[in-house]
Amino acid sequence: MTVAEQADFIIIGAGIAGSSVAAELAADGRHVLLLEAEQQPGYHTTGRSAAIFAPTYGPAPIRALTRASEAFFTNPPAGFWDHPLLSHRDILMIARSDQIAALDALIDEVGGHADISRLESHEVYARQPLLRPGYAEAGMLDAGGHDIDVDALLQGYLRRFRAEGGQLVAGAGASDLRRAAGLWRVTVGGREYAAPVVINAAGAWADEVGALASAGEIGLVPKRRTAVIIAAPEDVETEHLPLTVDVDEKFYLKPESGRLLISPADETPAPPSDVQPEELDIAICVDKIERAFDLSVRRIENSWAGLRSFVGDKVPVVGFSARAEGFFWLAGQGGYGIQTAPAMARLAAALAQGKQPAADIIDEGLELAALSPARLGV
Ligand SMILES: Cc1cc2nc3c(=O)[nH]c(=O)nc-3n(C[C@H](O)[C@H](O)[C@H](O)COP(=O)(O)OP(=O)(O)OC[C@H]3O[C@@H](n4cnc5c(N)ncnc54)[C@H](O)[C@@H]3O)c2cc1C
Repeated sequence: MTVAEQADFIIIGAGIAGSSVAAELAADGRHVLLLEAEQQPGYHTTGRSAAIFAPTYGPAPIRALTRASEAFFTNPPAGFWDHPLLSHRDILMIARSDQIAALDALIDEVGGHADISRLESHEVYARQPLLRPGYAEAGMLDAGGHDIDVDALLQGYLRRFRAEGGQLVAGAGASDLRRAAGLWRVTVGGREYAAPVVINAAGAWADEVGALASAGEIGLVPKRRTAVIIAAPEDVETEHLPLTVDVDEKFYLKPESGRLLISPADETPAPPSDVQPEELDIAICVDKIERAFDLSVRRIENSWAGLRSFVGDKVPVVGFSARAEGFFWLAGQGGYGIQTAPAMARLAAALAQGKQPAADIIDEGLELAALSPARLGV
């Protein structure tokens, strides 16, 4: 076997997690190889998201990472991308009369911020006129939300990575990982790459990559989520309507380039694969949307599904393995991997180099122990 190349870091997976940490490490002057199984970076979950930046979404460590990411999104490094990465989008959580306790619990947890307000029924309808009359009793408005240009974020990181001397190898599914003489040797289609540190950013496949390295498993569960595009009603200007989410996250609706993106917010466990939408999930989606909104869906214009991968506590796994020397986990980004990517990449790049994480990330109230693989016994 010929060693094709030796680097400081090998990163497995060029979704948003792998591409962003690759760019940060390369910008720190490290020699980085980024291996991607597909021909196209971002082909799996990263290319299938709803592209939302929602500061109030997810458990506390996610909210801290999201807050710590906002400065990058609004003011990325010079030359990162030619257009803004974010465009404003209000987020409206809606509650029926039987969901008021859940709404108030959410406001208790994330409220107390200038962007957050509780809305009475008439205020909800003023914000979201597509709702079916009588459906929503109250709501919570988060004025701090945005749409994310996900492709620009991914391509911006890859551009920065290459400009800093990083090397992306596409069509390179890592099938064998071995450690010898202080180096990981990663085999890809008969070629071998070597580095003292491997970063596992393999998305839904992260436990499979962990097993290849004898690093154990983090108990990752990929969960299928479906997205559907339908026509917007012709008589309503939809582009400035809020992302509208059921407070129990059973469905959502979002304007999408003159159309509407709808989702049943499904979370069906599924093995890692090129997952496709199921007819039943599309039908459930349409039913939920037609119950809540004054819409009649005649035609599905497009649909897709992607895998949101979670460990038990729904918090990402970031840090060195205690079982396999030089093996670094960057996995379990769940439904928040785009909005948290900038802070997560800086954090992972620091930890993988044995450096202190930047103060602005920790100052958001992030407990590193909450992300550590040690909490999962690996
Ligand atoms: C419908 C839907 C809506 C979502 N909406 C949002 C949202 O609004 N906001 C948000 O922040 N997040 C959202 N998410 C979640 C977000 O998309 C993910 O958290 C994020 O994309 C995960 O990125 P990743 O890089 O970890 O995974 P991926 O993008 O899946 O990247 C992992 C890569 O690893 C590669 N790989 C795997 N095994 C190997 C191997 N052995 N060798 C080489 N390469 C390998 C894969 O080919 C893949 O390209 C959504 C997800 C879905 C499905």
